[in-house]
Amino acid sequence: FTVLGIESSCDDTAAAVVRGRNILSSIVLGQTELHAAFGGVVPEIAARAHAEKLDIAVAEALKAADTSLSEIDAIAVTSGPGLIGGVLSGVMTAKGLSAGSGKPLVGVNHLAGHALTPRLTDGLEFPYLMLLVSGGHCQFLIVKSVEEFQRLGGTIDDAPGEAFDKTARLLGLPQPGGPSVEQNARTGDEKRFRLPRPLLDQEGCDMSFSGLKTALLRQRDKLVKEQDGLYEQDRFDLCAGFQAAVRDVLAEKTRRALEVYLEMAPAKPAFAIAGGVAANGAIREKLQALCDEKGVAFIAPPLALCTDNAAMIAYAGQELFSKGVTHDMSLSARPRWPLDKAASPLLGSGK
Ligand code: ATP
Ligand code: FE
Repeated sequence: FTVLGIESSCDDTAAAVVRGRNILSSIVLGQTELHAAFGGVVPEIAARAHAEKLDIAVAEALKAADTSLSEIDAIAVTSGPGLIGGVLSGVMTAKGLSAGSGKPLVGVNHLAGHALTPRLTDGLEFPYLMLLVSGGHCQFLIVKSVEEFQRLGGTIDDAPGEAFDKTARLLGLPQPGGPSVEQNARTGDEKRFRLPRPLLDQEGCDMSFSGLKTALLRQRDKLVKEQDGLYEQDRFDLCAGFQAAVRDVLAEKTRRALEVYLEMAPAKPAFAIAGGVAANGAIREKLQALCDEKGVAFIAPPLALCTDNAAMIAYAGQELFSKGVTHDMSLSARPRWPLDKAASPLLGSGK
């Protein structure tokens, strides 16, 4: 099937055309500059920008794929979770296109889009283990089918990407924080400042990252007081210490998640990561080594498919559509939509 995908749940307006595992086009129109002055995504500004840019993104995606609506089999759209204004804009656009063209509509859970990406990029077979680690999310999922996700645990407070961003802010480094903290950590000594590894002594796969930021703030203030400012090397060492703490927490929790997963005796064991933080070299290396040790394939999709995009929505929509799932005009936008709730989370129209 050829599916048009639409994504507008956060601050990227995206449209893509996917056929099978081929991405015919993937357009992402960011809004970074619109929100830059506010230090975070402003929902009202995002919603208005989506409303303005969605038609452009769709037109560009169809053009880049050298196709038209009449040749598309279905229209997939993120119908949650996310910022409600943006999700609504996307759902309205998709409904309009569906009504105008007579093509079926498929509502897709944004997180399912991320979780199914390793099937698009690497053709993974069910069940596989997934760590979704981004600016807004951090959770382990066993992906059992297109609509069956077992959540093993996740952060109980901040997401790691958020912690990277806050760390950068505390140290006066540019946003997004992840890449700048990673860059600075390269020349740092991770052992100089021992930051906490929360919840490691607790069973299960839950994680916590907010205490890390407080510990970092305390170290920074102590240094500033003692020596009347931060030296460059202090910044390197603080970044290295912080990154090492995040890396160690993710690695230890991944070890436990793998144990649970391997008990299912999967035929082709695989562990995939997605989300912006999956770009981090130190974290990747450690998780890769862990998988090598356990004999599990380690999959890290290309970054453009790890962060928000519409190709993953088109692909997830295609998987659902091929199982006969479509939605009617009552499809609603859901601000909250946990993946593991209800027996068939993707099938409901949003009640
Ligand atoms: P979500 O998609 O979950 O709603 P989001 O849009 O913030 O959240 P992404 O676009 O997937 O998430 O990722 C952005 C986050 O990834 C930012 O917090 C950024 O700092 C972080 N990040 C990007 N590159 C790196 C890196 N090299 N190391 C660590 N973190 C990184
Ligand atoms: Fe996302």
